[in-house]
This record gives sequence, C-alpha cells and structure tokens, in this order.
Amino acid sequence: MSKRAKVRPDKGKPEKGKDKKKSLKARKARDREELRLRKLVVETALAMSRSGLSPGRSGNVSARFSDGMLITPTGMSYEEITPRDVVFVATDGSVPGKQRKPSSEWQFHLAAYRARPDMSAVVHTHSLHAVVLACAGRSIPAFHYMVAVSGNIDIPVVPYATFGSEKLANNVASGLADRQACLIAHHGSIALGRTLPEALELAREVEVLAEQYTKVLSIGPPAVLPESEMQIVLEQFKSYGQRAQG
Ligand SMILES: [Zn+2]
Repeated sequence: MSKRAKVRPDKGKPEKGKDKKKSLKARKARDREELRLRKLVVETALAMSRSGLSPGRSGNVSARFSDGMLITPTGMSYEEITPRDVVFVATDGSVPGKQRKPSSEWQFHLAAYRARPDMSAVVHTHSLHAVVLACAGRSIPAFHYMVAVSGNIDIPVVPYATFGSEKLANNVASGLADRQACLIAHHGSIALGRTLPEALELAREVEVLAEQYTKVLSIGPPAVLPESEMQIVLEQFKSYGQRAQG
C-alpha cells in the first residue's frame, strides 16, 4: 500500500508537466492560426477592394475561428486595415476585450456560419452587376452552366431587410442553406467558401455571371438550361472540384 502511495505522486508529476507542455503547444498553435487568419482577412479585403468588387468602404470579409469569427472592422478603408484591426466576434455576438467595432454586417456573417457548418469564410460585396440584378429583384437562373459554382442550379435574391438587422441575417441564412452564394435585394451579394481565397473567387464569379446575365437580358428573354442538365453539371463539379471549368 505504502509502495503504491509512493509510486503515484512520482508518476503523476511528469504527466502534469507533459499536460502543461501540451496545452502551451496547443495555445501557440492557436495563436499562429489566429495570426494567419487575421493576415488572410486583410489580404482578402484588400484584394476584394482592389478588384472593384466593393466600391468605397462597402463589403466585408470574415473567417471562422475558434468559437466565433474574425471579421473586418467598420468604418476603415481597406488600405489602412492591419491584422490587429480585425475583430473577433464570438458566436453569441459578443466582442470580448478592447477591440475595434466589427463590420455592421457581423450578424449575417455569424448566421451564414450557423447555416453552413461546412463553410469557414464569407465575402460580402456590393459589386456592380450583382447589385443591379439584386435591385431589379432578378435571380440568376441557369442561363450558363457556370451558375452551378454556387452549389445549386441558380443564384436567388433573398428578401430585403435593413442592413445589420437580425431579419436580414435570417434571410441570408435561409438563402445559403443549400447553396454557397446568393444576391441580397437592394443590397449586394454574399459568397461562402471553405477558405477565404475560395470565398473571394466565388464572389468574383458571381459578379462575372451577374454581368453576363445583365447583357443577356438586354438582348431579350434568356434561354435557360434544363434542371436535369444542371444536375449533371453539379455532379461533375463535385467530382472534379468546384474550380473545374470547361
Ligand atoms: Zn453590405
């Protein structure tokens, strides 16, 4: 008995040290990942702004992180944002510690992550042609097979609600339940990705499709691919990866 009692504390000590090392290692890895994502949020916001997808200070970018997300701050030009300015917002909407104010659209970013646990990045734009269609209440049907990059057979317009409102967050979440991109009435577009580059690329593709569709509409009523064909395209995109293009 006394022998066992002696052994236990000796055995316990190195384990405790190991645990401490392990948690320190985990914390360091978490910090590294946070810094990587903060930099990527800044890079993505800059790339979005420079490619003309978000005129003025419109648009915003976020990445899922820990029990919340990292999102661009409100009221700053993308040229002046540094990784430190990116704001962590917890899943309950709280902004812990002393941080900048998050983008006014933080609610629909969180709602998008709740609706799509498989997605980890959000890019929201006021890109010209997406806005034109969103203001006309025109969804993008399967006028071109590339519409399937959205993960479905069309890119719908979700109903308008005041920017920054919970109602808008709910509208966006229901629009994204079974697709990765949609238009927001009288507002803009939103695109999801597993990574930030993927979400940005989808936002670009949505704008390209919106521009093409606007031009098609100017000629006359568009011809639309049948749903059965779009299902084949969706299957092909799944097996070749979303970026496959013919
Ligand atoms: Zn907006």
